[in-house]
Amino acid sequence: MFKTPSNKVLPRQGDPRKFAQHGVVLEGCIATSDLPRIAEVAENSGGEVQVRLEFKISEEKKKVVVGTASADLLLICQRCLEPVTVPVESNISLGIVWDEEGANKLPPHFEPWISGEGMADLYDMIEEELLLSLPAVAYHEELCIDSKLYSSGKPVEVKKERNPFQVLEQLKSSPKS
Ligand SMILES: [Zn+2]
Repeated sequence: MFKTPSNKVLPRQGDPRKFAQHGVVLEGCIATSDLPRIAEVAENSGGEVQVRLEFKISEEKKKVVVGTASADLLLICQRCLEPVTVPVESNISLGIVWDEEGANKLPPHFEPWISGEGMADLYDMIEEELLLSLPAVAYHEELCIDSKLYSSGKPVEVKKERNPFQVLEQLKSSPKS
């Protein structure tokens, strides 16, 4: 796969609390082959994930990390069973906490990243975030096989939705047909 030489490889280990205190910004890439759970679902394990992480202290004085992780993953189209390139982008917004109790005290726009003292595996966190952003099913955008076979011709867009209660709210508020 194509690699730009200026692309630094993101370090695997880092101390998120220390990083937040120092306002560390990390930019780089990770080979998808280094993310086993992504490599398992993507056909192109030779690809890479572009990552930008900004560790900081939030307005609420919480240690947080915000940023993005994006990759073009080769998934299997569930209509024609041929590979389809799906751009996957995760918006990362995590509060670094010790435990569930800390997680409960986070402002709602931060998801908890429960992390012990010292170094944490950044790849693990990024992999988790990417997995949450994967579409439930992948389709070619164009109709790859006869649309008459399917009642809905349009590819299904699956938005990242982590909060089951929000989904419930949406279900409740959507008009009944
Ligand atoms: Zn297809």
